[in-house]
Amino acid sequence: MGMGTDSRPTGAAGLARPVGIRVAAEIRARIEDGRWPVGVLLPTEAELAREFGVSRPSVREALSALHFAGYVEPRRRRGTVVLSASPVPGGARHVGAASSLAEVADLLEARLTLEPAVLWLAAADPEPAALDAAQEAVAGMALVTDTESIPADTDHRLHALIADVCRNPMLRDELKTLLARASGPVWRRTQAAAWQERAALRRRWATDHGQIVTALERGDGAAAAEFSRRHLLSAVENAVGYNEMPASLRIRLRRMQQTFRVEPDPSAC
Ligand SMILES: [Zn+2]
Repeated sequence: MGMGTDSRPTGAAGLARPVGIRVAAEIRARIEDGRWPVGVLLPTEAELAREFGVSRPSVREALSALHFAGYVEPRRRRGTVVLSASPVPGGARHVGAASSLAEVADLLEARLTLEPAVLWLAAADPEPAALDAAQEAVAGMALVTDTESIPADTDHRLHALIADVCRNPMLRDELKTLLARASGPVWRRTQAAAWQERAALRRRWATDHGQIVTALERGDGAAAAEFSRRHLLSAVENAVGYNEMPASLRIRLRRMQQTFRVEPDPSAC
């Protein structure tokens, strides 16, 4: 098999497909150490499945996760090409990206209001194909939790894939419009220090994402909403700690934490 125990997933609880993640971690290691340099084609799915002793669906999941994280890209009729030896997939810019710290605060408040509610509804009748895509994105996101370079726009793409699980197109589109604003340089700046300096927080975020998707799979709307709310409160906490946040906005963010805080959960660490 050739896959060491150090390639286990980074504590992302709730990931349903550990085999795919293990394969993805091994492929990523080879890309990062230059065995499969940028520009080369990976071996075929069948070859990878044989080499790692896993099923082709597991290989496909691994490749989807690596694609999400920005390492590889499927090319029609050619196979899968290596795009990058780090998880930074170019600087995608989004129309409507938060352009000031005040807008970052607006965005966090809007997401706290809408996102848990949409996921609560989504859990009642989740869209199966979207659940699969979300699960693969969670795996892709988990792959980058041990890297210090902040993956550009990975988080908001993951949240948009989770939003697709909701079948109501109005709510889904409203939420995705909001999520597209969680991108661009101002937003990233508020999150970057925490991402770079706090490995435990990165793992916690990966765990949050896994828990949200697992709750949706279980059809547990209350849990999906609760995990989502806690995840967003963690982003608020980060924004509070951002050293360039003006005092007036810090007060507003603190008030937001009070508004959206409910009973402390004994299982939360
Ligand atoms: Zn997130």
